[in-house]
Amino acid sequence: MKIAKVIVDLPLMQTDKPFSYAISKEFQSLIELGMRVHVPFGTGNRLVQGIIVGIEEEKDAENSSVNLKDIAELLDVEPVLTEEQLWLADEMRHSVFSYKISCLKAMLPNLLNSNYDKLLKSADGAVSKWSQLTEEEKISSAKAVRAGQLSVEYLAKSKENRRTEKYLSIPDLEKLAEFEIEKRAKKRLELKYFLLRMTEEKIALKSLNFSSQIIKFFIEHDLVKIEEVEISRTKDKFEAIENDSAKVLNSEQESAYEKIIASSDKPFLLEGITGSGKTEVYLQTIDHFLQMGKTAIMLVPEISLTPQITNRFIARFGDKVAIMHSGLSDGEKYDEWRKIKSGKAQVVVGARSAIFTPVENLGIIIIDEEHETSYKQDSSPRYHARDIALLRAKWHGATLVLGSATPSLESRARAMRGVYELLLLTKRANEAAILPEIKIIDMRSEISDQSANFSQSLLAKIKEKIDKDEQVILMLNRRGYSSFVMCRECGFVVDCPNCDISLTLHMDTRTLNCHYCGHVQGIPQTCPNCQSRKIRYYGSGTQKVEEELREIMPEARVLRMDVDTTRTKNAHEKILEKFGNHEADILLGTQMIAKGLDFPNVTLVGVINADTGLNLPDFRASERSFELLMQVAGRAGRADKKGEVLIQTFNPHHYAIEMTKAQDYEKFYEMEMRFRRELSYPPYYFTVQVLVSHQDEEVAIQKSYEISQILKQNLTEKAKILGPTARPIARTHNLYHYQILVKYRFEEELESALNQVLELTQLRDNKNLRILIDSEPQNFV
Ligand code: ADP
Ligand code: ZN
Ligand code: ZN
Repeated sequence: MKIAKVIVDLPLMQTDKPFSYAISKEFQSLIELGMRVHVPFGTGNRLVQGIIVGIEEEKDAENSSVNLKDIAELLDVEPVLTEEQLWLADEMRHSVFSYKISCLKAMLPNLLNSNYDKLLKSADGAVSKWSQLTEEEKISSAKAVRAGQLSVEYLAKSKENRRTEKYLSIPDLEKLAEFEIEKRAKKRLELKYFLLRMTEEKIALKSLNFSSQIIKFFIEHDLVKIEEVEISRTKDKFEAIENDSAKVLNSEQESAYEKIIASSDKPFLLEGITGSGKTEVYLQTIDHFLQMGKTAIMLVPEISLTPQITNRFIARFGDKVAIMHSGLSDGEKYDEWRKIKSGKAQVVVGARSAIFTPVENLGIIIIDEEHETSYKQDSSPRYHARDIALLRAKWHGATLVLGSATPSLESRARAMRGVYELLLLTKRANEAAILPEIKIIDMRSEISDQSANFSQSLLAKIKEKIDKDEQVILMLNRRGYSSFVMCRECGFVVDCPNCDISLTLHMDTRTLNCHYCGHVQGIPQTCPNCQSRKIRYYGSGTQKVEEELREIMPEARVLRMDVDTTRTKNAHEKILEKFGNHEADILLGTQMIAKGLDFPNVTLVGVINADTGLNLPDFRASERSFELLMQVAGRAGRADKKGEVLIQTFNPHHYAIEMTKAQDYEKFYEMEMRFRRELSYPPYYFTVQVLVSHQDEEVAIQKSYEISQILKQNLTEKAKILGPTARPIARTHNLYHYQILVKYRFEEELESALNQVLELTQLRDNKNLRILIDSEPQNFV
């Protein structure tokens, strides 16, 4: 008899280990590692989902199968997790303080995490639904799948995220030909002849130039049939992109390329200024590994924001590419996952979670813009894609490349210590493109009666560029910033009733929204505090800036890109396409526009407010500001026209601003490292944060001290334990938050101490206590 080790889908400390189940005879030949099952659990034997993480022969097992419960049901006919993924989950559990089951589930496409049904299809077209089969039929079907006689397809229940289009076809051509239409009905006749000449089997309804009235007539007479067909967005996309071939590398690129393909001993840090041709190096190294029969993972930050870069991969590798991003529906993600698992795709391009995709035979992993915070997941499991990449590279003996114009201090410091190998690209790849010139505009001495947001010099420059038919990118930094409503009489600001934070004004919906808990309310006409009618809107949201711009420069064509204008699907791509076709002169946006855009006609980048992120209570505030400004500056002058960058600021002498002006990463790195060393912050120290939340503030405080005590008892004196302190935003979702930050270098007992902390939530008294443990936290606000 065999025994299965199963991790059940219950996020509890007590169930954070495998449970043993007997594998009954009929399942013996079917069960494999990485399959999902239903098992009876607890005294009530409730059926819960679980994942098989081990299979043992009974003689080696401590438990005898006689005392074990049986596995109740098989949910898969082939494993959904690979052995490597099971190992990854084990490894993750040591530094990501989430339950094992949540690590495992992070590796599965959503479609497999919920109870979607399956269709079994045989070669002759017979289809049966898994859920409607008896247990015996399931077992025999599973065997048939193994033998290749049946194929499996997971069925997405909800259609909401899918895109369908109506197609028209002709059921009976003769009938249509013979059908008489009065001569006077010109449009009907026209459609009839159009249809008779049609060569395709079916045609998209929206591509027809006939009114719905006319088409309805044909439907009513059974001359045409309408059906809804699901279309995959990624498919149109692939078809629309032209092929592209490799460029001749310049000497810096060549030397980086040679080193990357030569060794996988340690990770590479490819530090190259914006436009230095990093992406070309990625493309060619990936090509090298494909030629060797290997596969590649290419991570990019928030892929929905950077269609330009994904297009370059599709242009180079065509059908070999699978795209994984958050804009896809569950069904589409599942399709891409299948493409990867079946080996059809050899290059996965995707955002953070694409690091988990089950590619076999991995040759290279590349993380572009490695400093981006979106590589750290800010909900459970709180993993960093870089750490997972290191593990996967180890498993496969694969090469890991981290690329950036402004590497994170952590990565750059590792390169200095020789943990990573540093590769530098110091020149722009396109020789005609020199780095843009950056000017700082001191807003303290700019008094303008014309505008609240624009200095005279920026306005003049914008005008100059537009007159020359060149294009402009304007960035409004929204980090740490929001528009709000305040009473001019008494200073009252409208706050969220559940959170300690002011509500953000949304002009498009005319509402006040809480960005933490989602609370929405109308804009008050009078002050809720003093009843004055002098309610004013504060803050320069992108919308306000746009209005101002239109007033001052009515001739300029402006496109706006922010959360409000990109809510609908593919909105990003449409805006960027328009801008690329020069249908607008100015692209005005938030941080979204800082990343990855490559428009040759853009010769001016203006930063409206460089300051808002500088003074946040976060030790990375300067690093983030510097990175962002360098990124956005890199959008200017990428082709043969010279670029200019104007940065408006109230802090012209802040070192992050001064180093941006000098475009000097090295100097910034040096200064920032000094400050990190003085204050014992990363990369000199590791950090782990414990966040304690409770609806009763007293309890939150008391438990925080209890936890702080546990940490003190278990850690050495070298560890620095800060707090507990209230979070900068002390209350959200009606919960009070307290935080403890541990700074440490080597602490043997840390992992067990933190598990002990996690265990506190399991006590009956602590039912409403929430504890989050975040290793290397990226956000402190
Ligand atoms: P990065 O990723 O470092 O920002 P890109 O790879 O986007 O840089 O390169 C910037 C521009 O230079 C792109 O338009 C790219 O096509 C071009 N380019 C890159 N490498 C070369 C090369 N070796 N020869 C000619 N053009 C190149
Ligand atoms: Zn709220
Ligand atoms: Zn008031």
